[in-house]
Amino acid sequence: MSDYFDVIVIGAGPAGYHAAIRASQLGLKTACIDKWVDASGTGVLGGTCLNVGCIPSKTLLDISHKYSLAKDGFSGLGITTGKVGIDIATMQKNKRDIVKGLTRGVAGLLKANDVKVYTATAELGAGRKVTLTFTDGQSQELGADNVILATGSVPVDIPPCPMDGERVIDSEGALELAAVPDRLGVIGAGVIGLELGSVWSRLGAEVIVLEALDEFLPNADQQLSKEAAKQFKKQGLDIRLGTRVTGTRVEKNEVVVSYTDKQGDQELVVDKVIVAVGRRPFTQGVLSADSGVQLDERGFVQVNDLCATDAVSVFAVGDVVRGPMLAHKGMEEGIMVAERIAGAKPVVNYECVPSVIYTNPEVAWVGQSEEQLKAAGIAYTSGVFPMAASGRALASKETVGMIKVLADADSDQILGVHMMGAHVSELISEAVIAMEFGATAEDLGLTMFAHPSLSEGLHEAALAVSGHAIHISNRKKRK
Ligand code: NAD
Repeated sequence: MSDYFDVIVIGAGPAGYHAAIRASQLGLKTACIDKWVDASGTGVLGGTCLNVGCIPSKTLLDISHKYSLAKDGFSGLGITTGKVGIDIATMQKNKRDIVKGLTRGVAGLLKANDVKVYTATAELGAGRKVTLTFTDGQSQELGADNVILATGSVPVDIPPCPMDGERVIDSEGALELAAVPDRLGVIGAGVIGLELGSVWSRLGAEVIVLEALDEFLPNADQQLSKEAAKQFKKQGLDIRLGTRVTGTRVEKNEVVVSYTDKQGDQELVVDKVIVAVGRRPFTQGVLSADSGVQLDERGFVQVNDLCATDAVSVFAVGDVVRGPMLAHKGMEEGIMVAERIAGAKPVVNYECVPSVIYTNPEVAWVGQSEEQLKAAGIAYTSGVFPMAASGRALASKETVGMIKVLADADSDQILGVHMMGAHVSELISEAVIAMEFGATAEDLGLTMFAHPSLSEGLHEAALAVSGHAIHISNRKKRK
């Protein structure tokens, strides 16, 4: 065997490259293999997150948000603007440049950390033998004491809605549009549907979101998801719940979307359709029959709480294993596994994984919702603070939304924090830190927050748990 490593990581997305860098930092001889290549055939690192996920979508969300502010958001502030326009080609070039900078940055980080990078397709065999196939058809065998699978996920497709990359597209295609469609259909009101639907709606498309479930954002706290639905509707997103898409057909320059709702079978005609009905773990061609790694019934690599698979010294992290498909969850798993291989004993705290939807307003949460606490029979108290009562939110005219803190009725330990409003993607980390350290609502209430700041909303919501909020009339009184 020509090359033998302490650790081989398969996949250079967030989960994989974090694992590789940390393993190498801890003195382990490490290789990282990824098959992603650009149009010129050059290897590109960073996986879905950097290339076709988090980073490009946030770039488009940010540009489209600034465009909509410049167009409609400054009235009443004393700012006058001329005719506001959007140049989609420049917007897309910005996005490409940012992605290129970041993916090159990851390559630089791996190099600086002495990680050996291979651009190849890897297959794991028995005894942690890894066979690489390069784009020119050549192959090479590597071996390692430990293998970490971090092969990520791919969009789910609906067979009756065949994607043609032109009119019926997935989330990757929706990041690449060269012009704003007049009418855009989105199948699925999940995170991707709402974020990409928001981008093109802000840029001028009529956006219709078709969602099979009757409930909007079922994993979020329902008080917030109901309020978020109202806000999205106000912005012009036409979200139709209880609407199951059954097929699409392309007719000339249009797409006819067939769906079923309470009224029966219906059709909708649009210019383009984004299929955003979820993602599935990617394991195709990754595991040879004798790898010893098992998949669960949903196709995820089967792992225990420490991300160990059924094969000795083979681990799996990120989207390819159970749990939310979130880059930061994969990063923590990658770090945890690398540290354990090096002899440390960290664990991932799955109770403290933040979720963020980068719409306007943003929605973010960590821990349990009221619905989950009720279902689990856990007695809790809650404190809610509306952002309309925040001095800083009023000063910047960003008063939509609220922050809710849920605490155990007996111990006062914080069990969940739910936020909707401007910049809550940043604020949620304060709640994550508090929960990670086992804080009570009282602990947060006794903490000094800078004034004026949006963070004070979290302080006030924590104080409201015991009826002590200062800037709202409390429902409860101090005992
Ligand atoms: P999702 O599971 O969040 O939402 C898909 C939605 O499609 C569901 O609500 C489902 O009911 C609906 N659906 C399925 N079949 C349908 C049909 N035939 N007709 C109508 N509706 C249908 O999936 P997603 O939005 O594609 O996102 C995939 C993954 O990527 C998620 O795990 C998500 O968390 C992750 N992601 C996260 C972020 C973020 O953190 N901001 C951003 C993008 C993606």
